[in-house]
Amino acid sequence: MIPQWVIEKKRDGGTLGEADLRAFIAGFTDGTIPDYQMAALAMAVYFRGMTPEETAVLTDAMMRSGDLVTFDGWPRPTADKHSTGGIGDKLSLMIAPLAASAGLAVPMISGRGLGITGGTLDKLESIPGYDTRLSVGAFKRVVADVGCSIIGQTDRLAPADKKLYALRDVTGTVPSIPLITASIMSKKLAEGAETLVFDVKCGRAAFMQTPDQARALAQSLLRVGRALGRKTGALVTDMDQPLGRTAGNAVEVAEAIETLRGGGPADTRELTLALTALMTVRAGLHADEAAARRDLTARLDDGRALAVFRRMVIAHGGDARAIDDPAWLPQPGATLEVSAPVSGTVSFVDAQALGRIVLQLGGGRKTTADAIDPAAGIDRLVQTGDRVDAGQPLMRLLAKNTALAAAFAADAASAVRIEPGAVPSRRLILETLSSE
Ligand code: URA
Repeated sequence: MIPQWVIEKKRDGGTLGEADLRAFIAGFTDGTIPDYQMAALAMAVYFRGMTPEETAVLTDAMMRSGDLVTFDGWPRPTADKHSTGGIGDKLSLMIAPLAASAGLAVPMISGRGLGITGGTLDKLESIPGYDTRLSVGAFKRVVADVGCSIIGQTDRLAPADKKLYALRDVTGTVPSIPLITASIMSKKLAEGAETLVFDVKCGRAAFMQTPDQARALAQSLLRVGRALGRKTGALVTDMDQPLGRTAGNAVEVAEAIETLRGGGPADTRELTLALTALMTVRAGLHADEAAARRDLTARLDDGRALAVFRRMVIAHGGDARAIDDPAWLPQPGATLEVSAPVSGTVSFVDAQALGRIVLQLGGGRKTTADAIDPAAGIDRLVQTGDRVDAGQPLMRLLAKNTALAAAFAADAASAVRIEPGAVPSRRLILETLSSE
């Protein structure tokens, strides 16, 4: 394989052969193909795209660039959920234990927040003691004992993706559906789950800003999953507005625990049930969505899902007192209420604006090396359809000190639109796609 010929072929709109693609990825992973040639190929793919077959081969090659976790012969079906990321998206914290309580094994490898998008690992690490860096052996033991485990990506899992993602980040080649598909799927497939469910976020605060883009990514993920022998399903869900009434890290853990107690905001509970039901039905645990929802609702309401979450936290060295009393979670130095300027009904809450505020309050990071303040964020956030009176709080800003919170009070107030009359309700699930 001559790397420049492969690049030229894609540049000119050709279809790459399996052997060439595999050799290219192997060479890039071991350093014999330099970054500049990989970047040139990524740019050619960005402009020319890839066929579904090329995307599947690229994914498979990237998946095989490192270790593969396997659950062959396990008594429970294995399944996982992946979200493309959003503001207030704490769903993994509920879905993993809920699905495990119903009988699935959920090996979940999650990421950190970057930019305005939060990350499950940062949220979990706000629980004092919770260790996200288990070895693969310890990870499998926790999945076997508890039913689920959530850890961070190891260097040995899909290393080609780690290298390629860093390169795409600085060469303008992130927003390419075949490259995003291979990136997400190579990590998820290496993790070994038989069933994969995707929550493709769509809107101003998401990677995919329009329903057409989000649907195209969802279809690409499903196609590759099917080509590589997994059971899959996907929802396209709204990310113009945040999910739930909190955004940050410790505050999102507190809201997740509330939802695992059978409470929590209606949107958070609804998506938890919808995605977990998709997982259990696709994995063959429940006959259909209605049966899944009945069973899963009972497990949220009677504490069985929360009991699994507690066992997972303990297995990871976390302080279970934080589950019974949120005062054990990191607390902000200062809180500041943001008041409604007029009376009316909330018609829109701008997730992108609030994501930017959370980041600047210290709850997110601009580069992967930044440290975060786990207590920073937003809570008690109004949602579309809520009635407010002038002067009533729209949300609380949580920060190290009052001056920092006060610097964002005006932006926070402008992120909430209030109308005098009735407002249409929000559409949370925009589309359901199944690989069948
Ligand atoms: N998430 C990933 O893991 N990879 C991408 O390319 C985009 C989002």
